[in-house]
Amino acid sequence: MKQIVILSGKGGTGKTSLTAALAHEAADLHRLVLADADVDAANLEILLKTTKLEEFYFTGGYKAEIDSVKCTGCGRCVDVCRFNAVIPPDSSENTYRINRIACEGCNSCVYQCPLNAIASARTTAGAWFVSGSVYGTLYHAEMKAGEENSGKLVTTVKNAAINKSREIPESILMVDGPPGIGCPVIAACAGADLAVISTEPGVSAIHDLERILETVKHFGIPPAVCINRSDINPGKTLKIEGFCKQDGIPLLGRIPYDPNVTRSMSKGLPVNSFDPSSPASIAISRIWEAIYSLIGKGLDSIGSEPLRPQA
Ligand code: SF4
Ligand code: SF4
Repeated sequence: MKQIVILSGKGGTGKTSLTAALAHEAADLHRLVLADADVDAANLEILLKTTKLEEFYFTGGYKAEIDSVKCTGCGRCVDVCRFNAVIPPDSSENTYRINRIACEGCNSCVYQCPLNAIASARTTAGAWFVSGSVYGTLYHAEMKAGEENSGKLVTTVKNAAINKSREIPESILMVDGPPGIGCPVIAACAGADLAVISTEPGVSAIHDLERILETVKHFGIPPAVCINRSDINPGKTLKIEGFCKQDGIPLLGRIPYDPNVTRSMSKGLPVNSFDPSSPASIAISRIWEAIYSLIGKGLDSIGSEPLRPQA
């Protein structure tokens, strides 16, 4: 099994569109497994036109719960809650209640209630799914608003995808990672053979790139970079390429701005399924060849790979 994680230092760099298009490129191999690790805003399933096969609840942290029968309305819980999560009675409600989004599960009110009217209970923080698609099985999840432990949910999704990958000889596990550099990103990266980093030539591109590169290198994952919408700011694109060259990071290719990407998304399709001859599709096909070449060489060559010639 080879594991590829697609990342970006920030959101909005076309990471999920790229993942869907790479899945389309890799589908002919018939050994692809997919995981959407962006559990706070999962949307790979839309582009892959999946069918849900299985669903599992995901339990998260703890939240306070008030037993309105035991509560005498002394108001102590309101005083001790530092997160303003206890809602006092108003004209329409005559019991104290917990704002579950604001509650941090700190247990102060549980210990301070003189009548033991507050309990700490585990929450259902979301769900994770196994879905079928023409590209391969997709593992994905949905986190409820205000819930925590998204890193743990990413690990749950990934472990299920890894188990499936082990059933398929020489499988490729493609992981659509979350944006940023936080705990869910680290969970998405764990055990990856290659981090494909999607960047754009914006004002903060190199700053964002440095942060995500530092993160993946810290965990010993070889990175490679592709530049999306590379022609919207050619000067910045050259700076990103220079930065990669200086750091010995393989450049997988440039993807030009292409209105077919937006058109394909409105149809819920990877761009190369929508129009295989569009400029973005041709560039992504070359990027997949470069990725496949890197993972095919056992990845030992990553870091010493020469920069890919640009079309
Ligand atoms: S501290 Fe206990 S008894 Fe007092 S208002 Fe809160 S829940 Fe009710
Ligand atoms: S558990 Fe902590 S955060 Fe939640 S309502 Fe009680 S005091 Fe507030």
